[in-house]
Amino acid sequence: MIDLLDKHKTIAERHARMMAMGVNAVGLTNDRILSPTRAMIKGRETILAGTNNYMGITFDADCIKAGQEALAEFGTGTTGSRIANGSYALHKELEAELARFLKRKHCIVFSTGYQANLGMMSGLAGPKDTIFLDADSHSSIYDGCTLSGAKLVRFRHNDAMDLDKRLTRSEGEEGGRLVVVEGIYSMLGDRAPLADFVAVKKKHGFQLLADEAHSFGVLGPHGRGLADEVGLEDDIDFIVGTFSKSVGAIGGFGAGNHPLFETLRYAMRPYMFTASSSPASIATSLAAVKKLAAEPERRDRLRANSARLFAGFKSLGLDMGCDMVSPVIAVKCADEISTIGMWNALLEAGVYVNIALPPGTPNKLFLLRCSVSAAHSFDDIDKIIALFGKVVASRAAA
Ligand code: PMP
Repeated sequence: MIDLLDKHKTIAERHARMMAMGVNAVGLTNDRILSPTRAMIKGRETILAGTNNYMGITFDADCIKAGQEALAEFGTGTTGSRIANGSYALHKELEAELARFLKRKHCIVFSTGYQANLGMMSGLAGPKDTIFLDADSHSSIYDGCTLSGAKLVRFRHNDAMDLDKRLTRSEGEEGGRLVVVEGIYSMLGDRAPLADFVAVKKKHGFQLLADEAHSFGVLGPHGRGLADEVGLEDDIDFIVGTFSKSVGAIGGFGAGNHPLFETLRYAMRPYMFTASSSPASIATSLAAVKKLAAEPERRDRLRANSARLFAGFKSLGLDMGCDMVSPVIAVKCADEISTIGMWNALLEAGVYVNIALPPGTPNKLFLLRCSVSAAHSFDDIDKIIALFGKVVASRAAA
């Protein structure tokens, strides 16, 4: 018999190497969460600088109250999909609120952001179609492409010329063409050059989907994402987003103006064949989306904090993932051993960041990835900078 798990032995070996150097950097336990920016980890109060909690909204009193009320009023779970069991009024309310916020005619809510990408991509594209993906696309986008059965064409990261070339090559092939880009790329924090992609769209004609997972609530004068920031919302056909970051809950959405958009509900397996989000989760998201609209000052604070961390890291001479400020700020490291070593040293010093290693990173980079929150104080940001400085200096001396 061939043991099916034999193929994972290399993962087990890599994991053992990591454990030998300290704690499990990819499976850490937060013993208690104290606030959007603090947790008790290994008996110590730790600054959280890798949460994606961009708006710092997870402990907002109104969001918590909305969740508690929905839990009491509608119960703990929906116990089925919206197709089988029907929607709760709350799901419809959240979809209407999001459509209003995004200025789109239609919005469909999913149980996670991952499922939103699986659903939208497989609902939009089928086996006769072609999906053009940025090489650095999130795994949920790649998986959505696999589920769709469409032909996959990868273009170089953020390279509209390369996309142009590949579209030219595919001219005359049967089926529709879907191009997918992201607002802020989750690993390096860089943005898609949307204007360049829109110019290519005007030349070739295709449908364009923007995954605004990390930019929804964050970028743009209204917080609608990168397209809002650069004034190109009319050129984006479909938006995908998640509630697990700026909204501080769980779930995702797809939105658009297409007259047949609603039919996607009956064509997307990740919408049809999974239970809908729990009432508490939906109510929390609804309260949070209202706050994104009503409290733009959260975005201002996030911007100021991001700029401060970026400048601080620059002054330390750290090699960063991109040269434009966003709430995702990644530091490039030399190799696996030094990355794990620095991650452990940072945790020991009292700051938690994400570790990101190949194959989960673009260009096989070794990264310590920070995400900034509106809830960080300037003092927190200064501490994160100082602790990075200390750790880098002590490793250079070693
Ligand atoms: N898209 C992107 C770009 C992401 O980074 C993520 C998650 N990190 C997702 C989609 C999936 O969202 P969720 O974790 O809410 O399922």
